[in-house]
Amino acid sequence: MSFTSQIQAVAYCRTPYKQKFGIPRQPGLVEARGYVELAGEFNHIDAVRGLEQYSHLWLLFCFHENLAQGWKTTVRPPRLGGNEKMGVFATRSTFRPNGIGQSVVKLHGIVKRKGKVCLEISGMDLLDGTPIVDIKPYIPFSDAIDGAVGGIAQEAPELIEVEFSQQALTQTTKYSMREHSPDLEPLIRAVLAQDPRPAYKKAKEDPKLYQVALYDLDIFWKMQDGKAQVLELVPGKI
Ligand code: SAM
Repeated sequence: MSFTSQIQAVAYCRTPYKQKFGIPRQPGLVEARGYVELAGEFNHIDAVRGLEQYSHLWLLFCFHENLAQGWKTTVRPPRLGGNEKMGVFATRSTFRPNGIGQSVVKLHGIVKRKGKVCLEISGMDLLDGTPIVDIKPYIPFSDAIDGAVGGIAQEAPELIEVEFSQQALTQTTKYSMREHSPDLEPLIRAVLAQDPRPAYKKAKEDPKLYQVALYDLDIFWKMQDGKAQVLELVPGKI
């Protein structure tokens, strides 16, 4: 059944995450900095007047990269190794009717960048360019539930160790000196510590060379002795 209300982007999220692989699977797991850039008729300071009183925000957004692939009644959550099925509404799957996601992020301030009113945020799990369809303040007395039960996701995922080759460390130091990527080393460490590999890869030996795209860099890494080894940083096309 359809309804008449039209949903449009009120803002776009600017993040270091240039591809889906490597983005944390929930907010608050990686302290990456980003911006929510108000768009079109919503690009007005009055639209966010008073928001600075809050420490955190709810972002409602569109999984725009997955919309074309539609949705299924059941999905295979990575938490269950990709082997067991659960109902789409019992998961945070990105393939869902209407393609709506929601994340709590930390608000650091309201700034103006290149003529746009921007909310400076951290902890988001969103691809760069994600359309935001609504922004709301996080209200602790109501939104934080003591003793809530988290089903298959009661605890944050376990972290793995991350090591850098000498070459990667030198490159990281060099690229951290740029104004737009000062947090590069902690960001790479935190992203890879989440072990972004698909669940079925984690069980056995994995010789594959992986790549994640952060800012304008392709980060090449592989697994060795149960640790993520960062090998090289290459300026990417993005
Ligand atoms: N916290 C949100 C929620 O529960 O609705 C998102 C959870 S979802 C499992 C997080 C994943 O969505 C990220 O790891 C990334 O792979 C994917 N993602 C983020 N932004 C996206 C976008 N614009 N389009 C498609 N997938 C996206």
